[in-house]
Amino acid sequence: MKISLIGPPGAGKGTYAAELSKRHKVPIIAIGRELRRMVNTKLGKMLKEKYWGKGKLVPSKYAMNILKRKITKKGYILDGFPREITEAKMFEKIDKLDAVIFIDVSQKIILQRLHGRLQCKKCGRIYHIKNSPPKKDKICDKCKVNLYERTDDKEENIIKERFRVYREETEPVIKYYKKKGLLKKVRGEGKISEIIKNMEKIILRK
Ligand SMILES: [Zn+2]
Repeated sequence: MKISLIGPPGAGKGTYAAELSKRHKVPIIAIGRELRRMVNTKLGKMLKEKYWGKGKLVPSKYAMNILKRKITKKGYILDGFPREITEAKMFEKIDKLDAVIFIDVSQKIILQRLHGRLQCKKCGRIYHIKNSPPKKDKICDKCKVNLYERTDDKEENIIKERFRVYREETEPVIKYYKKKGLLKKVRGEGKISEIIKNMEKIILRK
């Protein structure tokens, strides 16, 4: 199972990736999480200061290096990658995806959801105070550690910048995979369990 989950910022890619990973026993590869893990290194710090901390995409060459180290033959779920056409083309040289699942959700809904996102530093799982709260207040269900608020979502202008980047860079990726016959659209509004069910229909067909 080699799939990619793409969609606008805040579409819930992390949540769905975590659930699918658990059910199908394949690892998640998320550039964002890897970048957050790297912040104590010189390179990681630079990437934060110059790019993702400002809502900008980290250059493809760095993203590719992170990916290459993580890919396995058994399969994987790419969380929020490729983010632009260049990356989609670069990735084709590394491996072949079975499907690209596009989580289709309106901007209005996403803006409502972006506030209140909590993430586990250990496993990367994302919760939401209202939509998918942890069992215990601000504690990860699996790791039992404190959850932190996603700081890159805090400021409104960063959110807007992420949307602008998404429209400019990622929407062409959606068209690209559509042309290749790999794109599978899933409506990203409503119950998480329903959305997962729809994603599994796609995965199991493969
Ligand atoms: Zn955790």
